[in-house]
Amino acid sequence: MNYSALRLFREGLRNHSGWEEAWRDAEPQGAYDVVIIGGGGHGLATAYYLAKEHGIGRVAVIEKGYIGGGNTGRNTTIIRSNYLLEANAQFYELSLKLWEGLSADLNYNVMFSQRGVINLAHSDSQRDAHMRRGNAMRLNGIDSEWLTREQVAAMVPLLDCSDEARFPVVGGLMQRRGGTARHDAVAWGYARAASQRGVDIIQNCEATGFLIENGRIQGVETTRGTIRAAKIGIAVAGHTGHVAAMAGLRMPIESHLLQAFVSEPLKPFIDTVITFGAGHFYVSQSDKGELVMGGDLDFYPSYAQRGNLPIIEEAMSCGLQMFPSLSRLRMLRHWGGIMDMSMDGSPIISKTPVGGLYLNGGWCYGGFKATPGSGFVFAHMIARDEPHPLNAAFTLDRFERGYAIDEKGAGPTPNAH
Ligand SMILES: Cc1cc2nc3c(=O)[nH]c(=O)nc-3n(C[C@H](O)[C@H](O)[C@H](O)COP(=O)(O)OP(=O)(O)OC[C@H]3O[C@@H](n4cnc5c(N)ncnc54)[C@H](O)[C@@H]3O)c2cc1C
Repeated sequence: MNYSALRLFREGLRNHSGWEEAWRDAEPQGAYDVVIIGGGGHGLATAYYLAKEHGIGRVAVIEKGYIGGGNTGRNTTIIRSNYLLEANAQFYELSLKLWEGLSADLNYNVMFSQRGVINLAHSDSQRDAHMRRGNAMRLNGIDSEWLTREQVAAMVPLLDCSDEARFPVVGGLMQRRGGTARHDAVAWGYARAASQRGVDIIQNCEATGFLIENGRIQGVETTRGTIRAAKIGIAVAGHTGHVAAMAGLRMPIESHLLQAFVSEPLKPFIDTVITFGAGHFYVSQSDKGELVMGGDLDFYPSYAQRGNLPIIEEAMSCGLQMFPSLSRLRMLRHWGGIMDMSMDGSPIISKTPVGGLYLNGGWCYGGFKATPGSGFVFAHMIARDEPHPLNAAFTLDRFERGYAIDEKGAGPTPNAH
């Protein structure tokens, strides 16, 4: 069923009784050409592009819970491609370009809103670093713009841009093509489009082990039986270390908890995404008026999906430095997701030492914006058994070879990226 304004109108006339299920809730078959483990955005996008771009017919996505119930449905949805290092810049720019056509491609409104992303600077050295990044982006053909303090103040009037602010704003680096999207819709849109192309989406099906013979993958053990496949892709975000260990692989990844926060709804007052430069804090306003906010990790490895109070206090204090007038704002909800923090802060989209087993992980704070690009290049690698040029740098063995892609220059300290 194609979604269109005409269809909406017709369904309105008949009390919305004709909508079909968006995707088939499939039963596992004994064998597939490709199995993807993890029904988050990345796994679903990979399955979609395997079917669409490479014509691979027998594809299954197995998900231990419900699709989009992992980080895809828990993130603050910031999308941007404002990276300094070339490997990251080109990859995230591919992803941003895919976002720009995604709703039309999937025939599903993912509510991608290019409202812009502003990174504030609060010191001369931070301004210089932002300008350097902005210049590198422009050299890579990516939009970026330096905003003076006056320009920032005009765009976000409630932001404290005064000299009396505890961390006075010097200016901001803006990427106007950045923005936000509706996270659930991304999972649902990819699931629907993949299902329409014959992909089996199998929920409540956990991978519990691998069948490996002579160094090659033969299949996966699941809570719903054995599924044979010559090619398997792992896209399980915070569970990467755990799932890869079932194939005897030790990952350069730590799993950490990251929280997000939502306030009570307010009248519209921020029509962009804005990040604090004197601490780790980012905020945007949802269409319902709620402020959607995030900060740092909880800073200890964990598989828990709920966080602790000191981080909430720290994030809120950063928010109040920016917007002192919100001191009486009430918080509505907070939750956590499990982040796959890599040793250099960049992702791993790579073959593994096991033939036919492919890895997609190490997304750190930023994998939501990567969803379309990650699915696109991961599908390419699985289909052709060789990396796409845009993920060639994101290998698993780069840490052994000393080719780290350390965007922040923070060294092999996963919780610092
Ligand atoms: C609070 C928070 C805020 C964030 N903010 C942003 C942001 O603003 N912008 C941005 O770009 N990124 C952000 N991120 C990061 C982003 O959400 C993730 O990097 C991205 O969504 C990862 O997508 P995924 O599909 O790889 O993982 P997930 O959506 O987590 O999907 C992985 C799936 O694998 C399943 N799984 C795990 N183990 C197994 C198994 N054994 N068998 C079967 N299935 C299994 C899980 O149940 C899960 O559904 C944020 C993350 C969090 C937690």
